Amino acid sequence: KNNKHKLNKMSLYQNHPLQVYNSLSGKKENFKSIHEGQIGMYVCGPTVYSNVHLGNVRTFMSFDMIYRYLLHLGYKVRYVRNITDAGHLTDDGDVDNDRFVKQSRLEKLEPMEIVQKYTVDFHRVLETFNFLPPTIEPTATGHIIEQIELTQKLIETGFAYESQGSVYFDVLEYNKRGLNYGELNNRNIEDLLANTRDLDGQSEKRNPQDFALWKNASPAHIMRWNSPWGAGFPGWHLECTAMSTKYLGETFDIHGGGLDLKFPHHECEIAQGTACNGHKPVNYWMHTNMLTMNGLRMSKSTGNYILPMELLDGKNDFFEKAFDPSVVRFCFMQAHYRGVLDISNEAMVASEKGYNRLMEAMDTISKIETSSTSTVDITSWKKACYDAMNDDFNTTILIAQLFEAVRIINVLNDKKETISAADLAELKATLDIFVFDVLGLTNKKAEGNNNKLGSVIEMLIEMRMEARANKNWALSDEIRDKLAVLDIQLKDGKEGTSFTL
Ligand code: AMP
Ligand code: ZN
Repeated sequence: KNNKHKLNKMSLYQNHPLQVYNSLSGKKENFKSIHEGQIGMYVCGPTVYSNVHLGNVRTFMSFDMIYRYLLHLGYKVRYVRNITDAGHLTDDGDVDNDRFVKQSRLEKLEPMEIVQKYTVDFHRVLETFNFLPPTIEPTATGHIIEQIELTQKLIETGFAYESQGSVYFDVLEYNKRGLNYGELNNRNIEDLLANTRDLDGQSEKRNPQDFALWKNASPAHIMRWNSPWGAGFPGWHLECTAMSTKYLGETFDIHGGGLDLKFPHHECEIAQGTACNGHKPVNYWMHTNMLTMNGLRMSKSTGNYILPMELLDGKNDFFEKAFDPSVVRFCFMQAHYRGVLDISNEAMVASEKGYNRLMEAMDTISKIETSSTSTVDITSWKKACYDAMNDDFNTTILIAQLFEAVRIINVLNDKKETISAADLAELKATLDIFVFDVLGLTNKKAEGNNNKLGSVIEMLIEMRMEARANKNWALSDEIRDKLAVLDIQLKDGKEGTSFTL
């Protein structure tokens, strides 16, 4: 039976040619993996110096969906998502720009305690949102030797130079050799020069657009490693080249990240890989678009951000109520990964309604009676679902198709159309695949305990409403206050009373 399952899956990607938008060409391309049936995918992971915000979650969730669909198509995927636990400077300047060192001073913790604290937080968030773990999750600090070796190789081949204990990539030299720094971003050297700010440490560079491969550590810099150039630490761009090459090879299939990493981070990765190995490191570059909140890009630095757990427990200034992780996931999946997505209270409430409607229909399926013939066309509906996903992972259209299934389920339930047993089984199996396996949603009702507590609180809210209708203010206040003691807050809003746990 297992073998048969495997065979069926093997043929899936062969029958469903996938189109992927490649940021490098700016076009949708037919996807072809380097090795038949296998995919190597690298996604830039978080810099673990603070909690991930909901914007970060959107980017990682888009790649989780992409990973899930590739698995569903039957590919064997090696999915590498790193943890940046060293070296991510705000620019190439001095020690004050090291995010880890800065945060460790602020929190009075060791830099590695900062790393541990926020790595644990990151994993907790991902688990809450039902992410599949990557197959390898390497850290920058675990690959210092590989980064030193790459730096040495780049010096030997003349693409990099040492300057006062630091090593820089020579961008002009790269272009002199007929290569094209700027190819991913359609920028030329003149633009880059014009956009480079005058920063500390730049006097060490031959040219302002050169970027650091290795930085000399001042005595105050506690995150330091010995190297041929003295004590120092690696540059941020280099870690991704070191780890992707090590686990996926000199050229691999897919490299992903948020749109804001396209420049300079990914441009530098292309230059490093090409300079080291003489050929491009990546076949398909994929970039996910930003999450905005109330129209403004979500970002730590501007303060326009919300932590994922604050959206789930309702304790925040932006949203009227708490939302279930699956509702957040449903909301994110309704947007195409390359489009900007704005979340607001209205958008979340609408997503919650949509999600509930979908889940109700998934429950209704079991009540549908079958007949000898079908008057509904499940085959073409199923094809439309695959067509949507094969068109650059278009989850917006996929979800529109899922609501077409909701409509079909409801007319069948009303006995206005008929369906055969085989078609009903096909409808259910296909829905399970796209709703649970590919979009990664979970059915709230199936979650048990958590939801039982929710139902009990709903019951108390109803009893409080009754008390208020009877002008029994003492009882109404007692219910509210006793729940508050248990840290369950009731919020009276336009659409009735909601609660936060
Ligand atoms: P960082 O930890 O800063 O390296 O960011 C982790 C990932 O989150 C990167 O791929 C960023 O591109 C992505 N990211 C940052 N801000 C947002 C946002 N507002 N919306 C979506 N993705 C974001
Ligand atoms: Zn990276």
